[in-house]
Amino acid sequence: MSESQLRRDLLETSRQMLACGLNRGTSGNASVRCDEGFLVTPSALPVSAMTAASLVKMTLAGEVVGTGKPSSEWRFHRDILAARPEVGAVLHAHSTFATTLACLRRDVPAVHYMVAMAGGSSVRCAPYALFGSQELSDHALYALQGRKACLLANHGMIALGANLDEALAVAQEVEFLSEIYWRTLQAGEPQLLTAQHMADVQQRFKDYKKQDFEE
Ligand SMILES: [Zn+2]
Repeated sequence: MSESQLRRDLLETSRQMLACGLNRGTSGNASVRCDEGFLVTPSALPVSAMTAASLVKMTLAGEVVGTGKPSSEWRFHRDILAARPEVGAVLHAHSTFATTLACLRRDVPAVHYMVAMAGGSSVRCAPYALFGSQELSDHALYALQGRKACLLANHGMIALGANLDEALAVAQEVEFLSEIYWRTLQAGEPQLLTAQHMADVQQRFKDYKKQDFEE
């Protein structure tokens, strides 16, 4: 895909994250892999003021190509894209329910079968570290092992995909699962699925195309 198309797609995904309530104001950021490295949303610019030209190109060595100031969280975008060749897009959000659980420092357990969409039987919560730090990136990469999403303690969530559409679908699902888990905790004791239940779900997902997770 051409860089100009990737820029349009990244801008569109950023707008969708805002429109569906995953992000507000200047919180959250997104990246997509490109030929020379990746494109990432800029620092401190609300999505409403962003254009395709405001998106910042960086190499996987962490250098800006051309001009622009990348998101303060460029480091985990770079580290994830460098470490996970199957990942083409990384989204980061401070969405309400995922962040609520992250502030409780709780993993999302197998409270609903769609937890398997994130790649396992839970969505892990990475330990707290300062935003933008290498430590935060290291914690995130660890929590993301074998997964397409994680929570970041007292901060928010990260969602991954082979492309921007998949990453957005994962981010929306993680926010939904976080809300369901939080709501069940208010009402009583959630009944969790077993390891066998989740293995069965994973097997069924493998039988579908990646985009056909929903029933
Ligand atoms: Zn953040």
